[in-house]
Amino acid sequence: MSTQTFDYAIVGAGAAGMHLALKMIEDDHFQEKKILIIEKDKKEDNDRTWSFWEPEETRWDKLAENKWKKAFFTSKEGRLVSLDLKEYTYKTVRSSKFYAYCKDLIANAKNVTWIEEDVNQIKGSDIYTNQGMYHANHIFDSRIDPEFIEKEKEYASLSQHFLGWFIETPTPVFDDSSITMMDYQLQWKDHTSFTYILPFSPTYALVEFTLFNNEMLSHDEYEEKLKTYLSEQLNIEEYKIVEVEKGVIPMSNYPFTKHHEPALSKIGTAGSWVRPSSGYSFKNGDRYSSQVIENIKKGKSPHNGIAKNRFRFYDSIFLTVLKEENNLGAMIFETLYTKHDITSVFRFLDEQSSIIEDLRIILSLNIPAFRKALLKVLQFGKHVSS
Ligand SMILES: Cc1cc2nc3c(=O)[nH]c(=O)nc-3n(C[C@H](O)[C@H](O)[C@H](O)COP(=O)(O)OP(=O)(O)OC[C@H]3O[C@@H](n4cnc5c(N)ncnc54)[C@H](O)[C@@H]3O)c2cc1C
Repeated sequence: MSTQTFDYAIVGAGAAGMHLALKMIEDDHFQEKKILIIEKDKKEDNDRTWSFWEPEETRWDKLAENKWKKAFFTSKEGRLVSLDLKEYTYKTVRSSKFYAYCKDLIANAKNVTWIEEDVNQIKGSDIYTNQGMYHANHIFDSRIDPEFIEKEKEYASLSQHFLGWFIETPTPVFDDSSITMMDYQLQWKDHTSFTYILPFSPTYALVEFTLFNNEMLSHDEYEEKLKTYLSEQLNIEEYKIVEVEKGVIPMSNYPFTKHHEPALSKIGTAGSWVRPSSGYSFKNGDRYSSQVIENIKKGKSPHNGIAKNRFRFYDSIFLTVLKEENNLGAMIFETLYTKHDITSVFRFLDEQSSIIEDLRIILSLNIPAFRKALLKVLQFGKHVSS
C-alpha cells in the first residue's frame, strides 16, 4: 500500500484545527497545497459552548446564539458592578454550529481531504492511525502530549472546572441584555469559585458554577451549588434543565511549546493556545491561526513567536498566586473588573494591551502574594517548587 503524501496535515478538527483549516482554505497561498485533516470524531455534537469578546463584527456574528453589550460583576460581599463593554461585544457560539459551518467550507475545498481516523503516533513527518499511514511535510497536532498529565503538578497548574445548566423557566426571569461575568457570592469553601450566567432570552439561560483550583467536585456537589444559586441568588424555584455543559480546562504554565518539532507544530490547548490565566482560547485559535499562515507565507517556522510573550510571564505569576493562596481569587478579579475599564482587561487577556495598560493592571494587584509569586517565578523559572 502506498503512503499518501500531503503538504500539510491537521490532526484534530476541534476549535484550533478548524480555525487553521479555514484560514488555509481561504488563502490563495494554499490553493495548490494538499491538506489532510484527521479527526477521530464526527464533530456533530454540541460538546461545548464558546464565548468570547470581539471589538468588530466578524463571521461568528452570524453563528452566535446571542450577543451582549453589557456585563455584571458581583463581588463576594454582593457589590454589583455594571460593566460597559463599549466597542466590544460578548458573543456565544454553540460548537455544533461552528463544526457544521467549518465542515461545510472544508467539504467544498478541492485540495482538502478529511478522514475520520484515530491517530496513534506521529514520527517525524509520518502519521500512523488506526487505519493507515500518511506523510505530510508539516503537521499541526492538537493532541495534548501525555507528559503534561505526568508533570502538570510540577508547574503552576490549576484546573478551570465547571458544571453548567441550560435552564428554561415558565416565566420571564432573566435580563437577556447583559451577562453575569462572575458572581462571587456563592463560593466553594473559600476557593476561587463563581457563577457565570449567559441569558439567551428572558426565560432561557446558561447558569454555570466554575472553580479555578485543583480540587475536583463530585457531580452532586456542582449540582448542589447550582441549585443553591438559582434558589437563593436568583429566586428561581421552577425550571427545566434542557442541556448540561461540564468541562475542565487546563490553566498551566507547563511549556506545551517544547513539543514543537521542525516538521510539527502543536496547536490548540496542546500548543498553549489557551490563555492560562483565563481559560479562554476560541479567539486565540482565530488569531494564532492567522499568525501561523503569515509565518508560512514568510518562510518562517509555522509556530514562530506564538504563545511566547510577556503575557505568559504574567500568567505564571498569577497562577502561582492562585495555586498558593486560592482564596485570593475573588479579591483579584474584583480588582481587575472594578478598578479598570473592562476594555483594557479584554485587551490584556487578548495579549493586545500596551505596556502602560499592563503596568496599571499589575500595580493595582501590588499585594504581598504577587510579590512573593514574582520572586518565586524569577527564582524557579516557570517551575513552582511546592
Ligand atoms: C466545555 C468547555 C467549554 C469551553 N468554553 C470556552 C469558552 O466559552 N470560551 C473559550 O474561549 N474557550 C472555552 N473553552 C476552552 C477551549 O476553547 C476549548 O477547549 C477548545 O475546544 C480547545 O481547542 P482545541 O482545538 O485545542 O481542542 P478541541 O476543541 O478539544 O479539539 C481537539 C480535537 O482533536 C481530536 N483528537 C484528539 N485526539 C485525536 C486523535 N488521537 N486522533 C484524531 N483526532 C484526535 C478531538 O476529537 C478533537 O476534535 C471551553 C472548553 C470546554 C471543555
